[in-house]
Amino acid sequence: MAGTQETGNGKKVVVIGGGVAGSLAAKSLQFVSQLTLIDPKEYFEIPWANLRAMVEPSFAERSVIYHKDYLTNGNIVTSKAINVKENEVMTADGRSISYDYLVIASGHKDLFPESRTERLKQYQSENEKIKSSQSVLIVGGGPTGVELAGEIAVDFPEKKVTLVHNGSRLLEVLGPKAAKKTLDWLTSKNVEVKFNQKVNLSNLADGSKDYKTSAGETIKADSHFLCIGKPLASEWLKETVLRDSLDEFGRLAVDANLRIKGCKNIFAIGDITDLKEMKQGYLAQKHSAVVANNIKILMSGGNEGKMSIYEPTSKAIAIVTLGRCNGVAEFPFLTLSGFIPGLIKSKDLFVGKTRKLMGLN
Ligand SMILES: Cc1cc2nc3c(=O)[nH]c(=O)nc-3n(C[C@H](O)[C@H](O)[C@H](O)COP(=O)(O)OP(=O)(O)OC[C@H]3O[C@@H](n4cnc5c(N)ncnc54)[C@H](O)[C@@H]3O)c2cc1C
Repeated sequence: MAGTQETGNGKKVVVIGGGVAGSLAAKSLQFVSQLTLIDPKEYFEIPWANLRAMVEPSFAERSVIYHKDYLTNGNIVTSKAINVKENEVMTADGRSISYDYLVIASGHKDLFPESRTERLKQYQSENEKIKSSQSVLIVGGGPTGVELAGEIAVDFPEKKVTLVHNGSRLLEVLGPKAAKKTLDWLTSKNVEVKFNQKVNLSNLADGSKDYKTSAGETIKADSHFLCIGKPLASEWLKETVLRDSLDEFGRLAVDANLRIKGCKNIFAIGDITDLKEMKQGYLAQKHSAVVANNIKILMSGGNEGKMSIYEPTSKAIAIVTLGRCNGVAEFPFLTLSGFIPGLIKSKDLFVGKTRKLMGLN
């Protein structure tokens, strides 16, 4: 820990969640406060790189990053936050960590292993699963299912890929034009897309290759990947002092400074906020910058009126990768598919840019 002078007069800042938003907020505040990051994993993972890592496991060497690599001047607690009180956070491993300022960035629930080594092994075994299958079933037609179908179709064109989606079009988070362009591209790569059906995975016999759908169809596949949206990680807040700040979807209501409404010293950032904008990592990073600045102002006794205001973005940009060279991009007034979105995202998946932001090569 650096001396008091450099650490915001010894003010304690706790960040809950080391994902896209929380890791950057922690990094930005580590030299001006006594910083603690609480995350159940010992690493930060660039989420939009993980479908590539399934077809090319070595990709994860750069996209799965130890917290200690970018957080050189903070405490890292590898556990889950389970309770928040007026001035302390309780963790699942029995700790009680006091704070002057708290940032909640618990985003979406995930079930990834605690250790980075185990996570890299997981990619290896997912890759082996793909390689050893002649046919693959993907359940879910959101960004995760679409990007995985694209990665497999491009890297393993000889494999039969079937994607089953319970909605009437792909990528419901984007507009219909993006959905149509995506469907056309997947179809051109021989991915079979089936709409308006669910796959019943609960009664699947061990080793069975027959997948029954709600429409009465049977799909034959050697393996499957479940790519449905993950719920928000906010259940744990329901019994805390912040329970009344959760909306019906489990999101935290924030004010223009990204403080939880009615709180003086508790902020929320990233996908867990109720901001009316598309849930995107690059916006979550903008939240981090606003909150880091606001906490610095408050720690130095500055005027609250000087805090930065966050304006939700009505014109968010979204790019969905289609294999290594193509993509679909939704800009405010234009939807593009092909190699231009591919050039922007698909090759490196913003891994270099994200690492640079975290101060890494
Ligand atoms: C397939 C796909 C592609 C995407 N592509 C892009 C893209 O190209 N560009 C883009 O900008 N965005 C993209 N996104 C969206 C982006 O990934 C999210 O908006 C971003 O991850 C949100 O960041 P976050 O920090 O709020 O949450 P998360 O990244 O979900 O991180 C939350 C962290 O909190 C931890 N946590 C959860 N519960 C607790 C707890 N109780 N205590 C402590 N820690 C906890 C989690 O383990 C995790 O580490 C994509 C998403 C998907 C699924």
